[in-house]
Amino acid sequence: MGAITEAMARAARARGARIETRASVARVLIEDGRALGVELESGRRIPARVVVANVNPKLLYLRTIEPGQLAPEIRAHLQRSGCGSASFRMNVALSELPRASPFCQHFAPELPAGRDWDHARDEVVNLIIDTVTEYAPNFRRALVACSALTPMDLERRFGLTGGDIFHGALGLEQMWAARPVLGFGD
Ligand SMILES: Cc1cc2nc3c(=O)[nH]c(=O)nc-3n(C[C@H](O)[C@H](O)[C@H](O)COP(=O)(O)OP(=O)(O)OC[C@H]3O[C@@H](n4cnc5c(N)ncnc54)[C@H](O)[C@@H]3O)c2cc1C
Repeated sequence: MGAITEAMARAARARGARIETRASVARVLIEDGRALGVELESGRRIPARVVVANVNPKLLYLRTIEPGQLAPEIRAHLQRSGCGSASFRMNVALSELPRASPFCQHFAPELPAGRDWDHARDEVVNLIIDTVTEYAPNFRRALVACSALTPMDLERRFGLTGGDIFHGALGLEQMWAARPVLGFGD
């Protein structure tokens, strides 16, 4: 973890919290419309008075809550809601400082014509390098090595649905009180 999250973890532990990592939640246990805990992918159940989640709402409501446990209109709304601010992350090793720095965003999480990100990665890496080189002419020449995470990689590694770092596209219809669903923003 980074320094800020390490500090948050220390502060939480000092107040009695127990933190478990590598403990994927398979489903939220619900009875009579009330969350009673979670079941991990290992099968272990953790009972709780309250369940709080910070994952993408699509992940929470559509993958870890069984369809019958959710009001159909909320489920339909979440199925329609979009994840679209997908990031394409690159780490580059350079032999000299570039004359600009890139943060690449608004890549479509789903590609047209049935293409997938695993087959588009190299093409997009080169597109980004060429684009940056237009503004920072020494960029391609200075490149020693690079690693790249496509929106698909970000979803697989970090649970960022569609590679969306905002857990839902930041369109007017999905902001503020409309997150995760209008009427349930509180
Ligand atoms: C490449 C990149 C660069 C960024 N740069 C910046 C920046 O410069 N500045 C900035 O402010 N923000 C930046 N962000 C955004 C920032 O990282 C996110 O907005 C922030 O992490 C969101 O925090 P969160 O707690 O809501 O969700 P997350 O950090 O996504 O946390 C959700 C956690 O839930 C876990 N999880 C998923 N599914 C399950 C499951 N079934 N069971 C248990 N756990 C699960 C995930 O592993 C993850 O650890 C960046 C993001 C990316 C990907």
